[in-house]
Amino acid sequence: MHDPGLSLDEVKGALRRDELLFYFQPKVSFINGDITGAEALLRWRHGNALLRPGVFLPVAERSGYIATITSVMFPYLLNEMDVIRRESGKVSMAFNVSAQDLLSDGLARQMDQALNDRLFGGGELELEITETTAVSHEEGISRNVQALVDKGIRFSMDDYGTGYSSLETLDHLPFSALKIDQGFVARMFESAKSATLIKTSIAMAQMLGLNTVIEGVETEQAHAALLHCGGVEGQGYWLSPPLPRDEFIALKRSRRRWSASPVGMLRMAQLGHVWQHKMLMDAAYAFLHHLHGDESTLKAMHMDVSQCVLGSWYYGPGQAFAGYREFDRLERPHRLMHVLCGALCESLKTEAGYATVSTIIDQLTLHSVEVFDSLQRLETRVLLEELH
Ligand code: C2E
Ligand code: MG
Ligand code: MG
Repeated sequence: MHDPGLSLDEVKGALRRDELLFYFQPKVSFINGDITGAEALLRWRHGNALLRPGVFLPVAERSGYIATITSVMFPYLLNEMDVIRRESGKVSMAFNVSAQDLLSDGLARQMDQALNDRLFGGGELELEITETTAVSHEEGISRNVQALVDKGIRFSMDDYGTGYSSLETLDHLPFSALKIDQGFVARMFESAKSATLIKTSIAMAQMLGLNTVIEGVETEQAHAALLHCGGVEGQGYWLSPPLPRDEFIALKRSRRRWSASPVGMLRMAQLGHVWQHKMLMDAAYAFLHHLHGDESTLKAMHMDVSQCVLGSWYYGPGQAFAGYREFDRLERPHRLMHVLCGALCESLKTEAGYATVSTIIDQLTLHSVEVFDSLQRLETRVLLEELH
């Protein structure tokens, strides 16, 4: 990145003179094509030039001054959100913070205060963490992150797949979304491996119950190639570059829609369903072999019909397909699976014997195949409709 040799003193001066501001880049749904939110990106109005964070943030991060920038810019962002909300309706806003910002509880306290003062609602704000240093395992960070999550603030792992944005961090902190790094998208047409890494990362996120945002959607071709991959949202120059506030408001008010497809969502529903069936088999196996399984593992698998992975999709966003024969047909076998799941738990608990257990598992699998069959046919039908 071009480095004009800015010093920390200059950055401090910029903050003092109110020369820092935000641009807003829309996030767009792959499923319905609507703007779902925005990411606030820091800019420095430096004379006639508009400087990007790569030029001035590294020096602030190295010196620890980033925490001051964050604490000054957060209230500024709340003001901007207020204007956007008044002019164009609610927006889900993403704010970038570094893990360093969460080492002490300053930011968490500031957010807590703003929530108490009703300056924003918990669901309106998402924090994106990119790690430039390996600090996520610090006790203080987990505590601060958890406290904010408890208040409804969501966390995304930014630049997933690069640097310190690792599986270890993912394991450690309660993220609700992964932002897949733009480098994978940039390479996906040259490298089949990069394309596969995007798809498998999305599948992994699905298993973990996380949303995925794909960064760096720079061309129509990339957008079209990514539409069916199961990611929830995209972000990138082709969808829209980062915009000054008023241009973002105008875009939001225009109700512009980009092309979209529910096929990715259907693929993820299939994947989630198959995975859940495997997890159930694992739990039963572990229980029968007196491995690590106990009653609570089985109970966890035997949840309400609208709460399992498939159920929360079926009775939630999946309802967009109500009326499609293939969709309506999967409700019955899915309900039967839950009934059988209850019977399985009971028979394992009472040590009913192999014959009973195996009959139940057999029937469960038959219904699971029926559900999968309907989902697969629904996907094919929607895909064919799109091709038409
Ligand atoms: P990020 O959070 O990963 O933000 C995405 C970056 O990708 C932005 O760069 C955005 O302008 C750029 N981008 C968007 N669409 C495309 C595309 O289609 N192709 C390519 N090649 N790039 C695209 P930007 O604005 O220069 O920000 C760079 C980084 O600076 C951000 O990366 C974020 O890590 C950091 N940053 C930005 N604002 C803040 C802030 O307020 N606080 C902190 N701590 N970091 C910030
Ligand atoms: Mg970001
Ligand atoms: Mg990023």
